[in-house]
Parts: sequence; structure tokens; C-alpha cells
Amino acid sequence: MKDKNRVISTCAHCEDPIYKFQGAQSTPKGPMHHSCASLTDVSDAVGVLSAALKEDEGLWESYKANIAMSFVDECARFPAKYKSKAAIHGIANTAAENFLILLTR
Ligand SMILES: [Zn+2]
Repeated sequence: MKDKNRVISTCAHCEDPIYKFQGAQSTPKGPMHHSCASLTDVSDAVGVLSAALKEDEGLWESYKANIAMSFVDECARFPAKYKSKAAIHGIANTAAENFLILLTR
């Protein structure tokens, strides 16, 4: 039991101790808690996408068109010609969901 609570390293992300029972994940920045390593993977990925969007006008326009078309498509699916504020919120949320589904498939 005592050994289970032994500190085996310090997390390169949050700088808290990593206990033996938690296990450490080896990363290029050093050992991390598994949860911290996955957080940095996601923020690294978002950083790469963000930098690419800023550098590449074509990529920026492509993302913009895909987001806009998600909204246009969802508007066209909605039966009423005149839409309430609540309906527009619903359409926007479904459009955002559809965009994310297309992005992640
Ligand atoms: Zn950590």
C-alpha cells in the first residue's frame, strides 16, 4: 500500500507529483499524468490547426465555406419560411453539430 502511493515522477504539464498507482505517460516534454498528456495532445492539435488556418488562406476559406454551408443546409431543411429566434438557435446548433460530424468522420 505504501509503495502504491510512492511518487515516481513530477508531471511535465501540471508539475504535480505522479504517484505509482497513477502511472506516467512518457511524452516528448517528459513524464505526464495520462489525463495531462491527452490535454496537451488536444491543445497541440488545436494549435497546429489554428496556425495552419492563419497561414493558409485557402484552408481558411474552405473551413469558412463548410461552416457556412452547414448553416445554409440546415436552414433549407427547416420547413417554416419565417423563423423565430428559438428556431434560428436550433438551426445553428444542428448546423454546428453537422459540421463537427463531417469534420470528425
Ligand atoms: Zn499532470
